[in-house]
Amino acid sequence: MRPWMGQSFNSKAVRTLGSVIRHPSLAVPHLALTNIAQLDFAALKAMGIRGIIFDKDNTLTAPYVEELHPAISDGFRRCQSHFGGSVCIMSNSAGTGDDVNFESAIKIETGLGIPVLRHREKKPGGLPEVLAFFRERCADEGIEARDLCVIGDRLLTDVVFGNLHGMLTVHTKPLTLQGDNKVALVARYIESRIFFNIVHARFSVEAPQHRLSGSLQQLVLQNGDAQEQASENERQSLLQTGAASDQHSQQDKIPAEEKITSSAKQEKKLQ
Ligand SMILES: [Mg+2]
Repeated sequence: MRPWMGQSFNSKAVRTLGSVIRHPSLAVPHLALTNIAQLDFAALKAMGIRGIIFDKDNTLTAPYVEELHPAISDGFRRCQSHFGGSVCIMSNSAGTGDDVNFESAIKIETGLGIPVLRHREKKPGGLPEVLAFFRERCADEGIEARDLCVIGDRLLTDVVFGNLHGMLTVHTKPLTLQGDNKVALVARYIESRIFFNIVHARFSVEAPQHRLSGSLQQLVLQNGDAQEQASENERQSLLQTGAASDQHSQQDKIPAEEKITSSAKQEKKLQ
C-alpha cells in the first residue's frame, strides 16, 4: 500500500478528540516500551490476557513493508508461542474501506502469517469486529475488551482505542522514521509531546485503571531476559521437533535409549 493511501480521513479519531480533551488519561498508555521485545508475553498470558491486537506500521514492521522488523522478530515469535491464534493486526489502512478488495490485508497476512482484522471504522473505532474475532478464535462468547491487550506506536489511535474500551494498552516507539509519511511523523511528534511530556510527566495523569495496573512492572523484561526467553523458545521448539521426530522413529522401531541420547545431545548443543 502506498503511503498516501494509508492516511485517509479518520472521522472516528476526530469525533473522539472531545473525549480525549475531557479525559486526557485516554491517551496515556499503561506501559510505554521501546518495542515489543521488552514485553513479557508469558506473564501477560499468565495474568489473564486472552488476546493481542497489534498495530502494524512501525509496531511490527517498517512503514508500508510486509516483513517483520528484525528488532522485534524474536518478541513477535514469543507472542505467537504464548497466544497462538489469538493474535491479530488492526491497521488503519489494511483491512479498512481504504483497502480495495483487501489486497493489502491479504498481502500482509501472507507475509506475516497472522490475520489482519477487517473493520468498518478506523481506530479508535472497530470494537465490534475485534470482539467478534477473539470470541470466535477463543470459542468463548464471554471475552470482553478488558481481556485484550492492544500494542501500537500511536497514542491517538492505538492507545485511545484500547483505553476507550478498557483494554490493557502498550505504547511502543516507532521502529524507524524512514519511509513513514509526513502526516504520521508530525502527528506522532505532537501527540507524544502533549501526552507524554505534559499530561503524564507534568500533570501526573496516569492511564485509566485496569486490573493489571498494579502489576505492570512484572510485564517488562529486564536486560537479557528477552534474549533468554527467545533462546528458551528456540530450545523448546527444537525439543518438540525432536520429540515429534522420536515419535516418528518409534514407528521405525529405533531403541528408546538412542532417542533419549539424541534429544539430550540436541539440548546440549543449544546450551
Ligand atoms: Mg503505527
